[in-house]
Amino acid sequence: MSDSCIFCRIVGGSIPATVVASNDVAMAFRDLSPQAPTHVLVIPRRHLASLATADDAAELGAVLSLAAEVARIEGIADSGYRVVSNVGGDGGQTVGHLHLHVLGGRQMSWPPG
Ligand code: 5GP
Ligand code: ZN
Repeated sequence: MSDSCIFCRIVGGSIPATVVASNDVAMAFRDLSPQAPTHVLVIPRRHLASLATADDAAELGAVLSLAAEVARIEGIADSGYRVVSNVGGDGGQTVGHLHLHVLGGRQMSWPPG
């Protein structure tokens, strides 16, 4: 837990968020600035800077599984969706706590910008 990390503060409850799904390891909540009809962030409860420093395969598996559960909850599992994790500067990461973006509800384009 890092007091300076906004996603740790969401986990701790001091910053409000609209939670979509949650378990002991991971948490999913709506992005503040949605880029698609469904835009949910899935994070490990434990502070981890990014995928680059992830060291626990079971924890990563739980985060990924929760992303798939979010897609089912949001009703986009059959229509399709995208799961993205931005890592570091060139990856476009702006919040230094590992997160997956679950995006869906519209046709995604490729390549991403
Ligand atoms: P990144 O750019 O690091 O891949 O993604 C960070 C995401 O966090 C952005 O999509 C941004 O809209 C979202 N975000 C930033 N601050 C907050 C916040 O306080 N609450 C929520 N729910 N989302 C946030
Ligand atoms: Zn954090």
